[in-house]
Amino acid sequence: MSGGGAMPPPAPVASDGAPGAPPSGPSGHASCLSPVAPRARLLGRRAALLGFASLAGCARDAGTAAAAPEPAQDGAPAGTVSWRGEPAQGGLLIGHAPPGTRLTLDGRPVRVGADGSFVFGFGRDAVPEAVLVIRPPRGAAETRRLAVAPRQWQEQHLSGLPGRMVTPNAAELERIRAEQAKLNALRRTDSPEAWFAAGFDWPARGRISGVYGSRRILNGQPRAPHLGLDVAVPVGTPIQASATGRVLLAEDLYFTGNTVILDHGHGVGTLHAHLSRMDCAVGQRLERGETLGLSGATGRVTGPHLHFAMNWFGTAVDPRPLLPG
Ligand SMILES: [Zn+2]
Repeated sequence: MSGGGAMPPPAPVASDGAPGAPPSGPSGHASCLSPVAPRARLLGRRAALLGFASLAGCARDAGTAAAAPEPAQDGAPAGTVSWRGEPAQGGLLIGHAPPGTRLTLDGRPVRVGADGSFVFGFGRDAVPEAVLVIRPPRGAAETRRLAVAPRQWQEQHLSGLPGRMVTPNAAELERIRAEQAKLNALRRTDSPEAWFAAGFDWPARGRISGVYGSRRILNGQPRAPHLGLDVAVPVGTPIQASATGRVLLAEDLYFTGNTVILDHGHGVGTLHAHLSRMDCAVGQRLERGETLGLSGATGRVTGPHLHFAMNWFGTAVDPRPLLPG
């Protein structure tokens, strides 16, 4: 479905792009739509994600592991469960386990695909420890305690925003709540495809004008933290699917304007906000690299840019460590 007919003329890059100017980006926009769950946990050390780390250093060949399971500290078979990255606030871990393995994170089941792919994430305010229980197809269950690395967050001041975008009126609040409920429902989607396992590309290339996790002060008032990545691109820039996925939502929302959400499987979703045009329809499958729409300045913005956010179910994670370069 198309969210807009005419393509707006090219516009200058967001003012926040200029040195010393306030960062662009719907401050809190995405944050408002993606409240951090109290128990949300995230991960996210960029460097850590560049390598393929393993659970408790147990990265071994699957065949070897199956033939001769290595005892863990508690005497249970370790199996071969590995992932890219280390647990940290805002992080998304993409891993592999022997097919048939069952996983729970803090008591919550984590889907393991037919090929053994799995994924889980930690929120911006994740607590310092998570408990992963591994139940291999054969043998005893094993409990791993994961240290979740804390991160420092920037503070971002934005001023001169229209009052209704900082303090919406009653009717606007009603619309915002309805949209939030819809997003919450969509974020419970748990598709069996493991498209996320192939990794992610940039949806568009440009200067980063807003980062994940920053505290937002709007017109002097503290608001929800920014839970996405802002890429300053002129209006009309093609926005590409960063991984293969299915369109979960393509519509105009109060804070994020024209918004496209893709489902990449196992609860992993990407959100693309402030588009000037949406060139996809709900239910449509997009291949990695396919254009989903054009960038713009719709919704709560200080200038044209793409707000790119990533979720693992209701947990907003930091897309940056997953992107090249
Ligand atoms: Zn943003």
